[in-house]
Amino acid sequence: MENIPGIFGSMVFNDKVMKERLPKDVYKALKRTIAEQKHLNLDVANVVASAMKEWAIEKGATHFTHWFQPMTGVTAEKHDSFISPTPDDNIIMEFSGKELVRGEPDASSFPSGGIRSTFEARGYTAWDPTSYAFIKDNTLCIPTAFCSYSGEALDKKTPLLRSMEAIDKEAKRILKLFGHDEVKRVSATVGPEQEFFLIDKALYEKRPDLIYCGRTLFGARPPKGQELEDHYFASIKPRVSAFMKELDTELWKLGVLAKTKHNEVAPAQHEVAPIFTTVNIAADHNQLVMELMKTIASKHGLVCLLHEKPFAGVNGSGKHNNWSISTDTGINLLEPGETPYDNAQFLLFLCAVIKAVDEYQDLLRISVASAGNDHRLGANEAPPAIISMFLGDELTEIIEAIENDTCYNQKEKCQMEIGATVLPHFPKDNTDRNRTSPFAFTGNKFEFRMLGSSASISDANAVLNTIVAESLSQFADRLEKADDFKAELTSLIKETIKNHKRIIFNGNNYSDEWVKEAEKRGLLNLKSTVDALPYLISEKNIKLFTKHNIFSEAEINSRYQVMLEKYIKVLHIEALTMLDMTRRGIIPSVINYLKDISEVVNNKKAISKDFSCKLEENLIESISNLSVSLYKHIEKLDNSILEAKEKEDLLETAKYYREVVFINMQELRSVVDELETKIGKKYWSFPTYGELLYSVY
Ligand code: ADP
Ligand code: MG
Repeated sequence: MENIPGIFGSMVFNDKVMKERLPKDVYKALKRTIAEQKHLNLDVANVVASAMKEWAIEKGATHFTHWFQPMTGVTAEKHDSFISPTPDDNIIMEFSGKELVRGEPDASSFPSGGIRSTFEARGYTAWDPTSYAFIKDNTLCIPTAFCSYSGEALDKKTPLLRSMEAIDKEAKRILKLFGHDEVKRVSATVGPEQEFFLIDKALYEKRPDLIYCGRTLFGARPPKGQELEDHYFASIKPRVSAFMKELDTELWKLGVLAKTKHNEVAPAQHEVAPIFTTVNIAADHNQLVMELMKTIASKHGLVCLLHEKPFAGVNGSGKHNNWSISTDTGINLLEPGETPYDNAQFLLFLCAVIKAVDEYQDLLRISVASAGNDHRLGANEAPPAIISMFLGDELTEIIEAIENDTCYNQKEKCQMEIGATVLPHFPKDNTDRNRTSPFAFTGNKFEFRMLGSSASISDANAVLNTIVAESLSQFADRLEKADDFKAELTSLIKETIKNHKRIIFNGNNYSDEWVKEAEKRGLLNLKSTVDALPYLISEKNIKLFTKHNIFSEAEINSRYQVMLEKYIKVLHIEALTMLDMTRRGIIPSVINYLKDISEVVNNKKAISKDFSCKLEENLIESISNLSVSLYKHIEKLDNSILEAKEKEDLLETAKYYREVVFINMQELRSVVDELETKIGKKYWSFPTYGELLYSVY
């Protein structure tokens, strides 16, 4: 067994290393920069860079890279070696402060949604000193934000950092009103639970759909799926266990607090979760988790599938985003406090979240929208596309008591005075029962369960931070002006509950009744990415983002475009892959099988006309009928792809892909899946669901 405390963070230029290796004044200056989120001055940067380089070289690094998160949702890196030539034909290893704080990748091929045309292709990357540099694959990686020359965000980190500023600022205004002047920083904290599938690499390589699209586009149901529920929390198989062990070790070296691992509901499905941390670090770490899962799986002859729905008929994969807000003095603002006065503060922060989720259902939905996640949301395995909040019975009763001026836990009419009544602590077990809610209070944090497994958590958290910052900002505006703070606080809390309680739902989110009830309450039900995206550029949302300096109007429009384009491209690639697999794999299988059966019929008849060929003839007939249908659906899909090209408007194209191309894909799939159940095993060109799902032991 390795010495875990010894390896933990060994590849990270963390506080301990900084303290050891930096001159005292430089260390202090850097810490100040980190605490105040300021830019680093070049003299300090030069000293830090040099120490970083020495440390990295000792650990075997030869290169450095600015590690950033473009709007593709995955990370990007361009490696430069430390070498620099000397006049005497030798080299020295160099790394300057300038190279540390700023990079200039020629990044014209990253999506920008029209913000940056290729003639002004260069963007720049800037170090985020709040996220430590680390060594991965002999390369010193510097976490950076990625912007255009005129300062527009081209990545997922920048808006997240801006949203952290917003929530810090507004939360501190509230805390001041409660007398907490000692708080210097309020941060969102996040612990994302990551789901994924592991399948055998050799089988994966035979499935073009998995290779090109990350999900299966065909596949008949195997006789056994997840119905016995015998995989959930089952003992971890040796090959998976070896993978998990290596994953843990590598993550620990990178300072990622990998904590929990278990088997999930579907066969071949698993989950890993870290201990929570500040949201921008959690986002960086989650990217590392996803990346390492892929590379380490490969070493074990496995492939890690991060797609939201790799297999039809069994659960898809999500990412539960556990979110809270904490002060630098160690107070979790979503934890009911010890004293009545603290409880008033808790109730106010709770109300801020309730109001935010109700007013910005659309943005939360958009923050998790992707072609892949559309397969999950609304199916009976994941939260529905309708956003609602679960508070649990106890907290809901308290909220109702406040709204109705009754006593919590008492039947008679009396007033529950905010700031005077002691609230109970909510044991986690009591609040965590509802697994169907998209947004559940779990004792001292909210669990936002709609995120897709492959998504960057930056989008959802940037939205969460911003919308809660907006509630807090409105609350602070009111409370700062109040003559009688306590009275104003009470009426503010009451009002908020009254106005936004429609978003609270503690029942079964998977039921049909809820869909009807939600409609009655006027809640949004944005079923697909295409339904949701137009809301991004509504006046209300542009106002929100510009007020808190998260996005300029141009930046919002660019994100809208990038998301639409991505949606269209994903569906287009899937449709082409289906046609390719059908034409070059499925059709030859069908023909070969028919040929062999026909040969049997001919041979039998040659021996004796009296031999019955009923079985063979029936098979030939049913397969022939299906192949007529197959031909028709290939044509239909092919034509719809051509027709999509004719559309000029992006939204119109995306809608067409959703409403026509996607439906044609499903129809083609159902014919192929039926054929699969009839064609001999050795004729079928692709590994089956049964083989893929039960390939690892
Ligand atoms: P489960 O949801 O599987 O029951 P837990 O509730 O224990 O598991 O934790 C889920 C995740 O929530 C973990 O990553 C944990 O670190 C995280 N978490 C716990 N407290 C907080 C908090 N205050 N802020 C953000 N995440 C938290
Ligand atoms: Mg959970």
